[in-house]
Amino acid sequence: MKFSQLSKVVGGQVLQLSADRPVEALLIDSRKPVISQGAIFFALAGPRHNGHDYLEELYQAGVRQLVIQKGFNLDPALFPQANILTVENTLRALQSLVSYHRSLFTIPVVGITGSNGKTIVKEWLQSALSQKYVVCANPKSYNSQVGVPLSVWGLQPRHEVGVFEAGISERKEMAHLEKMIQPTVGIFTNIGSAHAEGFVSQEEKVREKLRLFRNTETLVYCADHVVVREEIQKAYPEKKHLSWSLNGAGKCGYRLLKKSTDSCEVQLTDRSVISLPFGHEASIENALHVVTCLLHWGFHPTEIQQAVKHLKAPSMRLELKRGSHDNYLIDDTYNNDLLGLEIALDHLVQLHQKETKRVILSDIAQSGLSDEALYQEVAKMLASRGLHDFIAVGPSIVAHQSVFKGFNAQFFQSTTQLLEHFDPHQWQSSLILIKGARKFGFERVVRSLEAKVHGTRLELDLDVMAENLNFYRSKLTGNTKMMVMVKAFAYGSGNLEVAQLLQYHQVDYLGVAFPDEGVELRENGIHLPIMVMNSHPDAFEALIKHGLEPEIFEFSQLKAFGQYLQAQQKEAKIHLKIDTGMHRLGFVPEELPEVIALLKSYPQMRVQGIFSHFVGADEAEFNDFSHEQANRFQQAVKVLKNSLQINPIAYLCNSAGIIRFPEYHFDMVRLGIGLHGIEVSGIAPEAVKLPAKLKTFISQIKHISAQETVGYSRRGKVKKPTTIATIAIGYADGFLRALGNGKCRVKINGEEVPIIGNICMDMAMVDLGSLKAEVGDEVIIFDDRERLLALAEQANTIPYELLSLISSRVKRVYYQQ
Ligand SMILES: *Cc1c(COP(=O)(O)O)cnc(C)c1O
Repeated sequence: MKFSQLSKVVGGQVLQLSADRPVEALLIDSRKPVISQGAIFFALAGPRHNGHDYLEELYQAGVRQLVIQKGFNLDPALFPQANILTVENTLRALQSLVSYHRSLFTIPVVGITGSNGKTIVKEWLQSALSQKYVVCANPKSYNSQVGVPLSVWGLQPRHEVGVFEAGISERKEMAHLEKMIQPTVGIFTNIGSAHAEGFVSQEEKVREKLRLFRNTETLVYCADHVVVREEIQKAYPEKKHLSWSLNGAGKCGYRLLKKSTDSCEVQLTDRSVISLPFGHEASIENALHVVTCLLHWGFHPTEIQQAVKHLKAPSMRLELKRGSHDNYLIDDTYNNDLLGLEIALDHLVQLHQKETKRVILSDIAQSGLSDEALYQEVAKMLASRGLHDFIAVGPSIVAHQSVFKGFNAQFFQSTTQLLEHFDPHQWQSSLILIKGARKFGFERVVRSLEAKVHGTRLELDLDVMAENLNFYRSKLTGNTKMMVMVKAFAYGSGNLEVAQLLQYHQVDYLGVAFPDEGVELRENGIHLPIMVMNSHPDAFEALIKHGLEPEIFEFSQLKAFGQYLQAQQKEAKIHLKIDTGMHRLGFVPEELPEVIALLKSYPQMRVQGIFSHFVGADEAEFNDFSHEQANRFQQAVKVLKNSLQINPIAYLCNSAGIIRFPEYHFDMVRLGIGLHGIEVSGIAPEAVKLPAKLKTFISQIKHISAQETVGYSRRGKVKKPTTIATIAIGYADGFLRALGNGKCRVKINGEEVPIIGNICMDMAMVDLGSLKAEVGDEVIIFDDRERLLALAEQANTIPYELLSLISSRVKRVYYQQ
């Protein structure tokens, strides 16, 4: 959709139209803007945070489309290049846009609501359905008035099923969520008591939530909840009811055959038996919603068994971290409701790393109970598991501290107070569950209790990486798309973390070198389109299975893939590589007639992209050749388009090309090294920053007399007595041997000191001279662009090689605001 069409869908008046851009990325958070041509900011006016306060800042950052609320005085002259729409209510406008977007899809969509378990049911159902379908779902628990629109906006033509949860905090909200989700199948998880959320009775609360299913055909719920059952039957007698029950009350009669603390067996209506990997009642209930839904979808019980086998109760997927003071930490800083707390406490009790168990918890969210009853429940849960030491954070739990008589508890109003006043020495050798609702920011607590990371590590600042991305995006105009190359472990930075970041920032494509790299991304939840540069016939099956798009560069590969698709009766997207002068991979222009003939005989192959690669886009010296390459490329694209009657994505520029050849951006560009803070063309070196810092530490310090030498082959000669430090990084870590014997300097305690002698496999030695240092001190190999470029020069190579050679045994540590 274009900006000019927006008011037809959401109402309002166009205050200014500078260029009719597409409406693609929805922005509501001024702190993390996605800068792209298609980005559009909806200025929401919340109680604490008013989006209108950030309009100028966002405009400066490059956002060019704004939706603002009527009555807000804005001077269009301050936003000369912006498109601006004024509406009655920006939240409603956002929601209308998303309702419209949803109505473009005819796929089945599951809507999930109820008091507890929504997020778990959503995640489980998503994971089970993903075994057969391409699923779109809310990220995390984006289930609110603003979370739902952002989630549903993610629906794309390639999706086959949608799974969205909806949560409300006030009356009347569900009607808005319903318009956006438009579920065809509904799951009602369960209902808490009435007090919270401002309802008079449980019945009323169920009725409000049931508005989500106004136009839904099929309803899934547990008939053992009497109020839920009666209200649903009253509200929607005409719909298809898949009510399940463990005691004969519903249409789908299940039986619980066996149950232990961590598993159970359930007999389904057709007498087949499935086993679930947990014994907790709430988890069984959540799982049976999923099972019922899958049966409705036509999954065979053996397939269901396959799918549920891998389900994990929420706390089970939590990572156990090493804390300081001999503690272990269970990091559960994602949400805190009663069910989640109970599961996490069970998990804590079952772990055996330490006998002493402790808990840090925040206020509990959305329980459906009165606060008094809620915290009594919490006290009961803790006491019954023998958990007596805990720290509680939040105004609500502090207000009810009297219910925790007999506990060894400390109470704090806020996370900041806890961090200021709690002395971590008090808690030693224990296993600590850290369980907090998101808004309490318990990551800070985890960080303060974590053992400091020792050892050789590559620290990566993901916020810096996002800024670099935005810099390159700001260079694009019109509808130019962005592919980011995440080959070779994303240039050493970690393919998964980088791909997740890029997915969050909605780049258009990822590029990898080999099929395995693409498969790994898919298996870890990356759903962006992925282009694969080197595919061998052995990998065709994996490519198809995971929706990866191969680069086709050579005749035997072209034929083999065509024959494979023909035999399998499948279709696939491909990217044709044109060799315009690199002479590495690709078809040369003379080969195109034959390529065209083959493509015509294999219509299963659809040309999604045509691309080529510059030989020297970073150097002015090769300007003439770059123009020549661009010419050859444009010719090839024209020939292919005309003879095949196709309209593929044409793309040519790498990072340097983005900066130096805006005239050759075509339909898409390919960002690589620029994301990692190296602007190779040298035109805007300061515009990007290095996200990576390579660090190690001192293992030993020695005093050496003048007759001695240091390291292998006696290469490290000292002229006068000196002090040396052995550091824990060697060429097997990617600290190239070529950098030894004084070729490079590392930074210790703020000073630069030279490497002495040969670099060994796992270690190297440094001449400290008069510098004071101790065992354990940090050693910086590089922490900014200048140091990295200097190292590359000293090793007679380029930064690409240094970054991609940092070996996998070097721990990657990520930082993000
Ligand atoms: C690696 C690679 C890129 C990225 O190049 P940078 O110089 O890192 O921007 C682009 N295209 C192809 C084909 C590549 O192999």
